[in-house]
Amino acid sequence: MSTQSSNFQAPEIDYEDFRNSVGTMDETGKRKWVYPRKPKGRYTNYRNYVSYLLLALFFGLPFIKINNNPLLLFNVIDRKFFIFGQPFYLQDFFILALGAVTSVIFVMLFTVVFGRIFCGWLCPQTIFMESVFRKIEYLIEGDRNKQMKLDRQEWNSEKIIKRLTKWLVFVLISVIIMNFMFMYIVGYEEVFKIITEGPVDHSLKFLGMIGFAIMFYFTFAWLREQVCTLVCPYGRLQGVLIDKQTINVYYDFKRGENRSKWRNNEDRKAAGKGDCIDCHQCVVVCPTGIDIRNGQQLECVNCTACIDACDEVMEKVGLPKGLIRYATEAEIENQEKFRFTSRMKVTTLFLALLIGFLGFLMYDRGSMEAKFIKPAGSTFFIKNGKITNTFIYTLLNKSNQQKKLTIKVINPQNAEINFFGSDKIILKGDQILKGNINITFPEKEIKFSKQNITIGVFDDQGTLVDSFETIFEGPFQLAF
Ligand code: SF4
Ligand code: SF4
Repeated sequence: MSTQSSNFQAPEIDYEDFRNSVGTMDETGKRKWVYPRKPKGRYTNYRNYVSYLLLALFFGLPFIKINNNPLLLFNVIDRKFFIFGQPFYLQDFFILALGAVTSVIFVMLFTVVFGRIFCGWLCPQTIFMESVFRKIEYLIEGDRNKQMKLDRQEWNSEKIIKRLTKWLVFVLISVIIMNFMFMYIVGYEEVFKIITEGPVDHSLKFLGMIGFAIMFYFTFAWLREQVCTLVCPYGRLQGVLIDKQTINVYYDFKRGENRSKWRNNEDRKAAGKGDCIDCHQCVVVCPTGIDIRNGQQLECVNCTACIDACDEVMEKVGLPKGLIRYATEAEIENQEKFRFTSRMKVTTLFLALLIGFLGFLMYDRGSMEAKFIKPAGSTFFIKNGKITNTFIYTLLNKSNQQKKLTIKVINPQNAEINFFGSDKIILKGDQILKGNINITFPEKEIKFSKQNITIGVFDDQGTLVDSFETIFEGPFQLAF
């Protein structure tokens, strides 16, 4: 960090000392509990609005249906998946795999340019921790100083009542979150059924729900910031994903150093002092227990609490706000103002295109899927100058509307199909149907021993809804 020349003798500060310890651990390796001061300010307000919206979505989405399908369902137990009301089958998993690859590219590009904005504003861990559990804690135990005092004091009636109340409310909230989380897996109807019919009839699912609730309680009551600083792989990746052009929460060390305590009526510039008045407000407000003045650190989740805390201090002492702010490292070093650079614009456009591509893949996967497979070991038979092959068809209706279908051979011409019953196939919404058909050609149509044929599936309007290319077998001597 640079220092300004002056007559002022700043106390010796070891700027590298923070590297020898972890903010949430003491010298013996024991965990140091973080008591962040309640944040307030412009960014806190914005983050609150975003978190309220996300919480409303989390608690509301399980009840939303599109065409009678759940908006989102990831039922790994019964292998039923719905995304934006569209059923997804094992056959569609290539789209999900492509989606996963696209998401990884998206996350990497997004992080390279926009840093950890996701962690501070959108991550469920941050949303639940800071906007639900932490707020309840402030409500019951008070702000930082009161929490620290309560922790130090004997187990008297006040401490027992406050702690028991907090833990009970935490358990209750964990159970509520678990119920909603489970709705994304088995659907809200099933969760209501488990609740009303009791655990005896649904013992396995009930055990799963208890497991989830314990996990949520453990995460938010005890593990807390350790999820971000020690467990989350995304946080670990920051070191390789960000560079000097990445937007992050930064302390403007050029402006802030030499840090020194505030003295009324002092000309800090003349005294060679920087704008940081070393009040530690940015440190005490940090939910991961770090000092942003040490530069970008893996533990920083970009929650912006330190920006608000510092802005409040700057306002009080009459210095310009933004000593801690969203910026790139290059901007801080060159003392530039934040710019939405061409790199950011191009990346944003590319990310939008990636999202569009994913949307297109999901939209374009069709509402029907047909397959025609020859039974194992079957070949052909010839009768009255005609060659016949048997096929097993599998028809999958990916919509939730009933379909009346028929099957025709599109290429080559002059095929006859024996359906072993009606040639109209009724397929209910979300249904898979299997059956047999015989396809027969006049001998002259089959020019190869293994002839490519295309079988089409048509709806009752005569529209082709899917087609399948397969092999029709004929006698070897017919081949050219
Ligand atoms: S809140 Fe601002 S002024 Fe106070 S220590 Fe942090 S950076 Fe310095
Ligand atoms: S350093 Fe600032 S932005 Fe980063 S986690 Fe701490 S308070 Fe949040």
